[in-house]
Amino acid sequence: MFSEILPTLDIEGRRNRLDEVTADNVAATLRKSRFTPADFPTLISPAAQAFLEPMAQLGHQLTVQRFGRVIQLFIPLYISNLCYNKCTYCGFSVDKKYPRRILNDSEIISEAKVLQVRGFQHVIVLTGEAEDKVGTEYIAHAITLMKPYFSSISIEVQPMNEADYLKMREVGVDSLTLFQETYHPDAYAKYHLAGKKKHFSNRLDAVDAGAKAGFYRIALGALLGLTDWRYDALALSQHIIYLQKKYWRTQYGISFPRIKDMGSDFDIQHPVADRDIVQFITAFRLCFPDLGITLSTRESATLRDQLVPLGITQMSAESNTSPGGYSGMDAEPQFETSDHRSLQEIRETLAGLGYDSVMKDWVNA
Ligand code: SF4
Repeated sequence: MFSEILPTLDIEGRRNRLDEVTADNVAATLRKSRFTPADFPTLISPAAQAFLEPMAQLGHQLTVQRFGRVIQLFIPLYISNLCYNKCTYCGFSVDKKYPRRILNDSEIISEAKVLQVRGFQHVIVLTGEAEDKVGTEYIAHAITLMKPYFSSISIEVQPMNEADYLKMREVGVDSLTLFQETYHPDAYAKYHLAGKKKHFSNRLDAVDAGAKAGFYRIALGALLGLTDWRYDALALSQHIIYLQKKYWRTQYGISFPRIKDMGSDFDIQHPVADRDIVQFITAFRLCFPDLGITLSTRESATLRDQLVPLGITQMSAESNTSPGGYSGMDAEPQFETSDHRSLQEIRETLAGLGYDSVMKDWVNA
């Protein structure tokens, strides 16, 4: 289990050593003909910020070689905003008092129909974490209801054990998304104050359970802004190295959501600049060439268009983070999105950038 490995990796020491990397070290690394995960610390170092332009060009070339000029588009589908956890950065946190919504059968089908008509074939199903009301049975039933409308269904829900993940696979889920939020145990404790999510290792080990259950794809990530982003990037890279070695049949992806301010009670203590995001994407692309990299609608349309060529393989579109939001139901969102363009506008923009946008790249038999 990765929770046993992580404490032995001395991420703090590795982070501190990033400050010793020099411009000469970075230049020497960039002269190589191919990169490996061993180059990641050099490319994520503060000194490498002076090399973002060549890193971006190399990242673009490598992405085109590996994936072509193709971006897969998907949409998140929230089916509940009930959550028993207290996460200080989240609009679904249990301490936020408003009526919660759990979509019933007809509401789930209504949402699925709306998204199908809009042209989406790949959805990520999301919930808060409330095992008694929005647990494995509810989620599996919801997937069964929406399965006829989509070719690919992913889940981003509570951590589960292997048996429950197997159940998800049986009802037609092909991919799992599970972000650790932050790999720094002290920072994790600071932002996750109550509920099952307080348990750092449980969340980390659920990824192992998902890989053992045999998901076709697993997406990991950190919520950038909770701690020093370079610390989380290093830990995330080690998590991927571990998973690729141990569960080599699974395809892995990453996402890099930047925290959004959900109100005056949350102070973003480790702001992440646009150039940090560029470095994050390009370093991962160069050192982990087969990794899927997902870009969310948390970022603005302008920035998204600039980030696409650096190594992105998947993007969300038309996202609404309220359960029932696509069919006009009224419920609190998890966070506000920033890119409000329609699917058509995004597809046209991608075409203008020289990319094909695909709605379906996988059929779950
Ligand atoms: S981040 Fe997830 S677990 Fe935490 S409050 Fe929000 S929905 Fe619940």
